Amino acid sequence: MPIYEYRCNTCGSIFDAIRPMHAADDAISCEKCESKDTTRLLSKCYSHNEHGSISGQANSCGNCSGGSCSCCGH
Ligand SMILES: [Zn+2]
Repeated sequence: MPIYEYRCNTCGSIFDAIRPMHAADDAISCEKCESKDTTRLLSKCYSHNEHGSISGQANSCGNCSGGSCSCCGH
């Protein structure tokens, strides 16, 4: 399932959730304050490599070893 990133509009924290695609825009509670006032951010940059694992954190994006990457910004 894809990883989605959400920002809480109440306390400002950002958290991830793995959800089925059809539930991406459903209301989700903040992990910290449990507010439902959350906004979905753009999907994280992640890709499946030949081993089937997911890489996606800032400096390990599998798509941008050659330079600029539109999805992780480096
Ligand atoms: Zn919150």
